[in-house]
Amino acid sequence: MSLNFRFSDSEEMYREQIRRFAKTELAPMRQRWDQKRERPQEMVTKALDAGLLDPDMNHMMRGIMIEEVGYVDFNCALPFLVATEPFELNRLDGVPDKIRNPVRQAVREGKTIIAVGFTEPESGSDVANFRSTAVLDGDEWVINAVKNSISWANADYFTITCRTEEARKGIWSLSNFFVPKEVKGVKPPRLWDDIGTHGAERGEVRFEDVRIPKDYLIGERGKAYLQMAQLFDTNRAYIGLKCIGAAQASVDETCEFAKQRTVMGKPISGYQGVSFPLVEAETQLEAARLLCYKTLWLRDENLPNSKEGAMCKWWVPEITYEIVRQCLTLHGHYGYSSELPFEQRLRDILGWQIGDGTSQLSKLIVARSMFGKEFAG
Ligand SMILES: Cc1cc2nc3c(=O)[nH]c(=O)nc-3n(C[C@H](O)[C@H](O)[C@H](O)COP(=O)(O)OP(=O)(O)OC[C@H]3O[C@@H](n4cnc5c(N)ncnc54)[C@H](O)[C@@H]3O)c2cc1C
Repeated sequence: MSLNFRFSDSEEMYREQIRRFAKTELAPMRQRWDQKRERPQEMVTKALDAGLLDPDMNHMMRGIMIEEVGYVDFNCALPFLVATEPFELNRLDGVPDKIRNPVRQAVREGKTIIAVGFTEPESGSDVANFRSTAVLDGDEWVINAVKNSISWANADYFTITCRTEEARKGIWSLSNFFVPKEVKGVKPPRLWDDIGTHGAERGEVRFEDVRIPKDYLIGERGKAYLQMAQLFDTNRAYIGLKCIGAAQASVDETCEFAKQRTVMGKPISGYQGVSFPLVEAETQLEAARLLCYKTLWLRDENLPNSKEGAMCKWWVPEITYEIVRQCLTLHGHYGYSSELPFEQRLRDILGWQIGDGTSQLSKLIVARSMFGKEFAG
């Protein structure tokens, strides 16, 4: 029989290690990144020192890491993932080794970050209509771009997507570029006053007549879309798993609370109006977890995972948001205070109903795989 729902011994061992680390190291600092709007880079360093962020681990293993970290501190999940170099785009293929190797090494050591700029003021979902341009002038690209939704907009390095071919080629007119922030013409970021995900401050960066060497083109010219799709398809499962972690923590905490809290002579866990929503949440989380891990497994097997990634993306942030909301209200007035983690989890999860592709766009991807593009629109 080839179907097997068991994690391997090494995966279970890793889960135990990262769970212990999250409980002892991350939990006490949980509110700091949210309140101070800081990137939790020192936590990345600690996890690296503990040998928990191996860039050679497969996507399933990274998924375990994201779920366990998301259970304790949503804000640490993405920085931990980034330090393991999960996506081709950030490996800077094509950029000369003497430039890319030290940058990649610094990312792996948790010292820096390469932020990703796709979204523009006039289009986020509508990739084919990006307006940023890169024009070859001798041995240099001249870039004029506005990327206005970059997580970690104050990063040291960016990858940005620009049009290099005629507009009629749509998604095949785009190329990705590596741009260090110290290059002339890269303007200081303008940060959004976001309601959540404060550990990855989001903002706009303008690139005005920025000149970079010809070989700062990442991968093949005109093939940016393939690099973006590879990132999105898999990242959507990671986003799902960090939301699952946060929602599972909420369910577990609420079960404990429901056993302790007595109303009208008995623990509220004895009322089906309390226990059944938690049963429904537990069931949904189990199904969602299977979908996310299947998406990562497909990636590890080098099989297509666009449809599954899009399913994770539209569904999981929606159900987990609703689960956390239920858990907040089941705590009565206590849940409404920021002393308990529910309000932060709600704010953090909500952002991922939008970031990396909205629910509607994700459903469109699934619809296209079901009906074909000509019928799905
Ligand atoms: C927390 C967070 C982090 C982010 N991080 C990054 C980042 O690091 N880098 C980056 O480049 N971007 C980032 N983004 C931006 C994000 O990827 C975009 O916001 C997203 O792709 C949607 O683009 P948009 O905001 O321009 O909305 P639009 O594309 O303008 O869409 C507006 C609305 O119309 C709906 N819509 C659009 N087309 C259709 C359709 N065909 N059918 C039905 N509905 C449709 C959308 O679902 C949405 O509700 C982040 C966003 C958030 C919230």
